[in-house]
Amino acid sequence: MSISRPRSRAPRAITRSGRRRPARALTGVVAVLAAVAVLAAVAAPAAAQAPVGYTAADGAVERASETRTAAMPSAEAMGGYSRWLARQPHMSGTPAQAATRDYVVKQMHDFGLETAVRAYDVYMPHPLSVRVWQLAPDTMELPLAEGPVAGDSTSMLPQVLTFNGYGAAGDVSGDVVYVNYGLIEDYAHLDSIGVSVAGKIVIARYGRSFRGIKAREAEKHGALALLIYSDPADDGFFRGDVYPAGPMRPPQGVQRGSVMNEDGDPSTPGYPSLPGVPRLTVAQMAIPRIPVLPISYGNAAHLLAAIRDTAHDARAPHEPVLPQRWQGGLPFRYHIGPGPARARVAVVTDTGRAAYKTIWDTFGTIRGSTWPDEVVIIGGHRDGWGPGAADNVSGVTSVMEAARAIAAEVRAGHRPKRTIVFATWDAEEWGLIGSTEYVEDDSLALTRGAVAYLNQDVAADGRSFGAGGSPSLRETMRDIARHLPDPDDTSRVLYDAWRHAPDTTGPTFGNPGGGSDFAGFYNHLGIPILEWGFGGRGGVYHSAYDDNTWMERFGDSGYVHHAAAARVATSVLLRLANADLLPYDYVEYARTMATYVDPLVRAATARGLTVSVSGLSAAIGRFGDAAARWSATRDSALSAGSVRGAKPANVALRSVERALTRPAGLRTRPWYRNLIYAADEDNGYADVVMPSVAEAIRGGDRTLVDREIADLADRFDSAAHALDAATAAVRRGK
Ligand SMILES: [Zn+2]
Repeated sequence: MSISRPRSRAPRAITRSGRRRPARALTGVVAVLAAVAVLAAVAAPAAAQAPVGYTAADGAVERASETRTAAMPSAEAMGGYSRWLARQPHMSGTPAQAATRDYVVKQMHDFGLETAVRAYDVYMPHPLSVRVWQLAPDTMELPLAEGPVAGDSTSMLPQVLTFNGYGAAGDVSGDVVYVNYGLIEDYAHLDSIGVSVAGKIVIARYGRSFRGIKAREAEKHGALALLIYSDPADDGFFRGDVYPAGPMRPPQGVQRGSVMNEDGDPSTPGYPSLPGVPRLTVAQMAIPRIPVLPISYGNAAHLLAAIRDTAHDARAPHEPVLPQRWQGGLPFRYHIGPGPARARVAVVTDTGRAAYKTIWDTFGTIRGSTWPDEVVIIGGHRDGWGPGAADNVSGVTSVMEAARAIAAEVRAGHRPKRTIVFATWDAEEWGLIGSTEYVEDDSLALTRGAVAYLNQDVAADGRSFGAGGSPSLRETMRDIARHLPDPDDTSRVLYDAWRHAPDTTGPTFGNPGGGSDFAGFYNHLGIPILEWGFGGRGGVYHSAYDDNTWMERFGDSGYVHHAAAARVATSVLLRLANADLLPYDYVEYARTMATYVDPLVRAATARGLTVSVSGLSAAIGRFGDAAARWSATRDSALSAGSVRGAKPANVALRSVERALTRPAGLRTRPWYRNLIYAADEDNGYADVVMPSVAEAIRGGDRTLVDREIADLADRFDSAAHALDAATAAVRRGK
């Protein structure tokens, strides 16, 4: 899953000129290679301008290295990796997933990297059987499997059962209630019309919130089981032709996915799942207690069409109780119920020892020549719910191809100054488990040495470029996008495609809330992160049809956007690995933080709270002043050709965003230590800014709000001190 990138936003319009043939893709590769060279030539006057954080001499070397390396990623090679990795479903905990581990390690070894694997044993019950019946008005068992599709040989293979990870086992029957998206406000509407879901089976549509939040709310309101379906208005026929005629979700298509809200192995919260560590019992784990299953809109239609309204709204007796915004895309009027539709939901999972599975993260390392203890990490999850050509074989191929390109640059005599790690994570789909266990395992080294973590989750399933991450790395991303070709129009730069994305007036940047493997690095440890990719309209998200046939027809025919994502990866990695002084932009960061203060005041006012934010505003102002002093000192030293004091300055720079975390974490979620962005605890997909303050405001406790504002202000002062330490180190020259 990917959250802070385009999928969670309104889908962007895409113009498609029809199906492209592989031959066209090959000419595309040649054109892109030529374009990298042409852009390098065109950019020659600009190239005199060293990248931020570089002396003129080092900057010229860096620009040349980035241009050479960006010419390396090959759409053809990436298509080859993709067809191997997505040849069959490879859910975490299966032999097929062990095979992807071996494939990636062998490839990285052959590219010339040092390789390693880390194994963790985690609680991950697999389903043995999933069944749903309609009991009334008709009795029928619903056909849950997605099944084969004509012209798609991968879809003929055995498929992963249609289930939600960490949904409970059970066998329950009850009347059916439609709850719209299953949001907190949807249950408030049900309360207002006197409908209770207690003892009922709830059916909710996907969208607007993370599915784990839907499970939590259904359980909290006493539901016996939750069915979550993909409404055609969201990614089915309402949006376009359905697979295999078009890219969108067909009537039998299902979105699998985890319903656990925490990150990492639920049996070892906050520490790595190594042999011999203490484990929570299943009863102690933060996982759902009711069965939760995903179903297709074909199946949902049987249940939804049979529901009738039994309640009425006393305040508006002549109005339908179903708010118009609850109506979905199926061709009949929706109703809330309960009943007369009745259903039975039965889930059997493995238990005991069998519910624990071994997962494997892989690492390929290129040692830095000058500062080997300073590390830039790129990673993508290697597990999927099906073949996973988009989610996330595309991300893994980007990591692999970046490794191949930079390894070739090393062989040509250009070793990066800092260490680069190319990781693939297991069990992301179950709850960011592989990356979380790794971060908990290596937290000390990461806290000390990590320069940045770059995430690749769905690197290419369309044409629309999107990026997100820490505000400190936005300018690095923009500069790199100005120096790489747009894969769809190689006469212009990627930045222009990004800037002119159909629904935007400038390059938009997502914030790191949560929901993909950056969470351990960013939300837990405060390491700056970046992510990017080329998105489309989706349609096969977490389905058995997310395979190479879909990808080559509708997602990225010819794998040219895969190669473009890898090209961004090589440039970002080298830029951060070779900088004399780390190029974090805390001037932009402070400017961004300043814009968050007024919305906090408005949120407090809306809750009837009068709060003073002047202390926080002043601290952000001091942080901005320190950032301005730092950037002036950095730029004047570098333009004089001096990099004295670089080592202690870089140590201080790495501590700036760490200072904006707190060891005790957020009050409701101690694992989330970063106080700048977090996933919204009531939504799971949306991000919340300055979450310690925002959640205190939501709680309505004025004293706590004041305390959280003061705490955050103190941390901005600590971050300002870190910037001043960097300034002093460079001025001192040692
Ligand atoms: Zn994913």
